[in-house]
Order: sequence, then C-alpha cells, then structure tokens
Amino acid sequence: MGRVSYVNGSYCDHEKSKVHIEDRGYQFADGVYEVFAVLGKRIVDYDGHLKRLFRSLDEIKISSPIAKESYLYVIRNLIRKNNIVDGLIYLQVTRGVAERDFKFPKKIKPSLVITAKKFSINEYYCKFNKGIKVKITRDLRWKRVDIKTLNLLPPVLAKQFAVENGCDEAWMMDDNGYITEGSSSNAWILIKDTLITTPATNSILKGITRTSLIQALKKKKIKLSEERFSLEDIKKADEAFITSATQFVMPVIKIDNIKIGKGKIGRYAHIFKDAYMEAIQLR
Ligand code: PMP
Repeated sequence: MGRVSYVNGSYCDHEKSKVHIEDRGYQFADGVYEVFAVLGKRIVDYDGHLKRLFRSLDEIKISSPIAKESYLYVIRNLIRKNNIVDGLIYLQVTRGVAERDFKFPKKIKPSLVITAKKFSINEYYCKFNKGIKVKITRDLRWKRVDIKTLNLLPPVLAKQFAVENGCDEAWMMDDNGYITEGSSSNAWILIKDTLITTPATNSILKGITRTSLIQALKKKKIKLSEERFSLEDIKKADEAFITSATQFVMPVIKIDNIKIGKGKIGRYAHIFKDAYMEAIQLR
C-alpha cells in the first residue's frame, strides 16, 4: 500500500480515504486540529500538542473520539506505516456527521482523521539560510483564535495575499496597528538584544514551538519581552523570525518593503534555531 491515513478507527489507503458529506467539519468548520513534526521517526513536542488538542476540544465542547493515551499509539503506527523519518502529522477532530443543523446534534460521534507525510529537513535548512519574506495584511479573524479550530478562511486568504506578493508568510495586523501573528505561525522581532513576541492572549494561537523556544531561551538568559509590536517597531528591528511546528524557527529578511538586517539572516537566527532544536522533546 502507498500512503496510509487513519480515518475513524481504520488505517486506509490515503487516495481512497473518505469522510461523509454531512461531516460538520466540512459544513461548519466545526472541529479542531493539530500539526506535529516528526524528526528521526520521533514526534516533536508531543505532550504540548496533545495538551493543546484537549484544550481546543474542551473549548468547543467536543469529546475526544479516542482515549487520550491512544493518540500516541495511532500516530506512531502512521509514522511506521508511511515509513516516515522526517515528516508531518496532521490530526483533525470534528463534531461528527449529522443532518445539517447549527445547534449541536444530540447523539453524535466525533470524527477523527490523521494523515502523515514526509518532509525534507534539508529543504528546511536551505530555506533557513535564505530567510523568508513577509507581507503585512489585516487580521480579519474571530475573537477566539487561541483555539486551534478548522475555521481558517482568513489565514488562507492572508497567505494567498502574501504569495501573490512574492512573499512566504503574512503577518496579520489588528485594528490598533499591532501585529498579532503569522497566518500559520507566531511572529517575533529582535531589537538590539531583546527578542519581542506578541503576548499569548485570545488574539493569537499560543504556539507549541513558541513555548518551547521561550523555555530554551530562558536557559540561555536571552532577553525576552512578550509585548505587542507595530510597524514602527519592525522598522527598528535587527532581526525577525517566525515559529511553527512545520517551520521550527525561520528567519525573516523582509517585511513589506522593510529590509530586516540588510536583507540577510542575522547571527541570532542560528542561536535561536540551535537553542530550539536542543530543547525539543522527542517521543
Ligand atoms: N499561529 C497560528 C495562527 C498557527 O496556525 C500556527 C501553526 N499551527 C502557529 C501560530 C504556530 O503554532 P505551533 O508552533 O504550535 O505550530
């Protein structure tokens, strides 16, 4: 068999895997998800991602379709069945299948889909060495983006806008002119020797990579400030970064028309990436 995915208790041929047309994920984005990186056949920061999955489920009142302890078993099976050394696991839980109706259906079984794919760590390092470009756009999302829901249309449009403008990521700006986060990453700037990132309120997703990096940097005694930052602050930035489970720590060399660090990745980029890579938990 080629690529294998997990759909509601079965391991299926990825090409033939199906969910019902009345799945509430499909009709209402009524569900949550997680993305885990896999390095050397092991899952990166598994505990943090699983904890956030259960928080997201709790916030939108979906019960877990399988026991908490079973996720690790299923994900490890998928890593093995797909021969993944370095890769990504996508996991999604929706409220389940029912006749379309806004209110929660009474007897409904949540749906669980997990997919796995390979990715190249060398490609990551190539991208890291070049750095990425960021486009600024408005943050048009709802007020609970701290929950990792399937409701992703604003970030989809933001990312597309970035790509159409020759950039790799979009940073979203709130109505007060502050950057909240990337379309699918957390945003950071470095001014002199202080690293700045938006505080984890309801206005951003508290990234697991973000948390791991903060913990790693505390050990290295690097100055960190969790505060909002604006375009004016970006103009003063010596370096900039994004973090996410798929991009780890990725340097940013241009934001709109502002060149960061003369358009080349800076020395802190390596320090932060190495600190993060050393600190990750592998399971
Ligand atoms: N913010 C948003 C909006 C995201 O979609 C993501 C990636 N899922 C992140 C931040 C980074 O989170 P993590 O480090 O847990 O991947």
